Amino acid sequence: MMERLDQNTKTEIFSGIRTEEAGSTPVVPVQHRPEDSFSFRCHRGVSCWNRCCHGADVTLTPQCILRLSHHLSIRPREFLAQYTVPALWERAELPVAKLKMGGEDGKGPCPFVTAEGCSVYENRPATCRYYPLGLATVKLKDAENKDDFYFLVREEHCQGHKEALTQTVATFRHEQGVESYDAVNRGWMDILMKAVSWKVLGGPYGKEMAPQTKKMFFMVSTDVDALRQFVFGTKFLGTYEVAPEALKVLETDDEALLQLGFDWMKNVLFNEKTIIMKQHILQAAVAKVREETGAS
Ligand code: SF4
Ligand code: SF4
Repeated sequence: MMERLDQNTKTEIFSGIRTEEAGSTPVVPVQHRPEDSFSFRCHRGVSCWNRCCHGADVTLTPQCILRLSHHLSIRPREFLAQYTVPALWERAELPVAKLKMGGEDGKGPCPFVTAEGCSVYENRPATCRYYPLGLATVKLKDAENKDDFYFLVREEHCQGHKEALTQTVATFRHEQGVESYDAVNRGWMDILMKAVSWKVLGGPYGKEMAPQTKKMFFMVSTDVDALRQFVFGTKFLGTYEVAPEALKVLETDDEALLQLGFDWMKNVLFNEKTIIMKQHILQAAVAKVREETGAS
């Protein structure tokens, strides 16, 4: 099964495209590395100020939901109900939450845009931080690790590209506070990437991912309280080994719980040894498979 995933697979995680205009191809087809430079500056003086915060296509990562909920002093479930719409991340056909734009057609303003700019600026989503860069990750056949690269999104309306300020990708990422988001979201991005591979290859053993599994992925991605309830209120802790000292942390630390959720999903989806099943459960599962297949 793992071999099927070991293919050259390129996955765009954040395309950064906000308001794609008909007929335009805003992605500049050049791969950028952290040391590469580009010219861009966004500030209140630009004639397009706030234009990109209308009808924006902003997929929310798990860390985006935690940070925005915290900013608004509400829990993720309330944030989801009030500010997001469920959507399909088509590259992998996985359910995600997107920021709900105003207007019946979703082309209206972001709920957080004001005349002064973004009202949640210090906790704005990762896609908004990345813009006008996109992030893609690639797993080359036979390579041990994945490789990240960046690309420039040059939308017609965005005047920031005409500004004289030149910076490297690394400087821009640092100034936008992207690194801390990537650090928390890494496991989630890994799952997206592998799920894209599966979609390309026809799913596990050529089958579609089960609807229940997709639901679990959505819970892990969006609702840390539901995940906590699942970990502490079901058979989870009787099934998997979790160190007692870790349990204490997981009771209150949302980011730590997310990491457990990602590890669990990787195990469920891809059979990775990211989380260890308790011996008696494992033995019972092996015995069941043997019984079903007639293996000795
Ligand atoms: S969250 Fe802020 S930066 Fe992102 S689209 Fe909304 S107003 Fe714009
Ligand atoms: S310069 Fe680009 S990023 Fe800045 S407000 Fe204008 S469209 Fe948005």
